[in-house]
Amino acid sequence: MAQPIRIALIPGDGVGGEVLAEALPCLEWARNRGRALETVTFPYGADHYLATGETLPDSAFTDLRDHFDAILFGAVGDPRVPDGRHAEEILLRLRRDLELTVNFRPCPPFLSVARTVDIEVFRENTEGSYCLQGSTEVGRAVDLSVHTEPAVRRLLQAAFARAASLGRPLTLAHKANVLKHGHGLWMRVFEELRAAHPEVNARGMHADALLCALVQDPTPFGLIAADNYLGDLISDLCAAFIGGMGVAPSISFAPHRPHRCAVLAEPVHGSAPDIAGQGLANPVGMLLSTALLFRYLGWEPEAAALETAVSDALAAGAKTRDLGGTLSTAAMGRAIRERFS
Ligand code: ATP
Ligand code: MG
Repeated sequence: MAQPIRIALIPGDGVGGEVLAEALPCLEWARNRGRALETVTFPYGADHYLATGETLPDSAFTDLRDHFDAILFGAVGDPRVPDGRHAEEILLRLRRDLELTVNFRPCPPFLSVARTVDIEVFRENTEGSYCLQGSTEVGRAVDLSVHTEPAVRRLLQAAFARAASLGRPLTLAHKANVLKHGHGLWMRVFEELRAAHPEVNARGMHADALLCALVQDPTPFGLIAADNYLGDLISDLCAAFIGGMGVAPSISFAPHRPHRCAVLAEPVHGSAPDIAGQGLANPVGMLLSTALLFRYLGWEPEAAALETAVSDALAAGAKTRDLGGTLSTAAMGRAIRERFS
């Protein structure tokens, strides 16, 4: 019999656990349809850190890396840990040390609130300005931004491959006019891949002009590739086109598969301490991230059914407070699940 897919569940902090709870019946549903999967829940987050001083112990990291296929992640971040140390040592470490270079953030058209957008953001996920290297002295502070060719190439190759398969345009966001070294490297690899992919309509654009153009009219954009920092900003802006932070999904993966565990699905939003514990969080971002994970695992019928259920529930008026409705997190989860085919 095939070995089951092993999925690690990390609810984390704040609304992370509340939205992850709504994904669990979807995993159960996939299992009941014959998908061999096994889940293990890990306790890492602010409560665990404050109680034990542990963020993500090395033994847990190697267990995740070597004995699991995927991670389904809620969120980390807690006002009781003001320097965010535990979040860095849990989520940023998983992204970096599992080499999850590609952070894929689609904005599916069925979520569009104003104009119909269909944008997919490819964000580099492990380095750039988020490499956590720098120093603070009196009157002077430095944050390094480190870009390496293998990671840049992996991210751009994934974006070009997707653009080619969809026949959609690709825009690279950069500021190579100012960030001559780091974004110069991005431009060099981008131009090389552009020459190798004449079938892709690809262009580079200064990030400031791109943001302006996006706000004016997002409809002409297809795929957008960017480094970690710009990709973070651009994908949050794009989330606004589809209903906000509560609905935006993401999946991070290592195309070169350096370890058994090469994928982590999580909503774009963070732990949202302002609404945590009140049943106000929208579970849609988490559920659509679960659908992306199903698709990554090759479970296309389950991925499509979950996306259709979300789309149908929203079209029927099921809404949490962030979308102008009154449903609780759990009621929204139920409204979606009762539409499973
Ligand atoms: P991070 O640094 O982890 O990205 P953040 O500071 O960007 O976190 P979020 O936790 O993503 O903040 O929250 C940003 C805003 O979006 C908050 O006002 C929050 O209430 C809202 N928000 C986030 N997630 C949801 C959700 N699932 N449902 C409804 N509103 C949400
Ligand atoms: Mg954010």
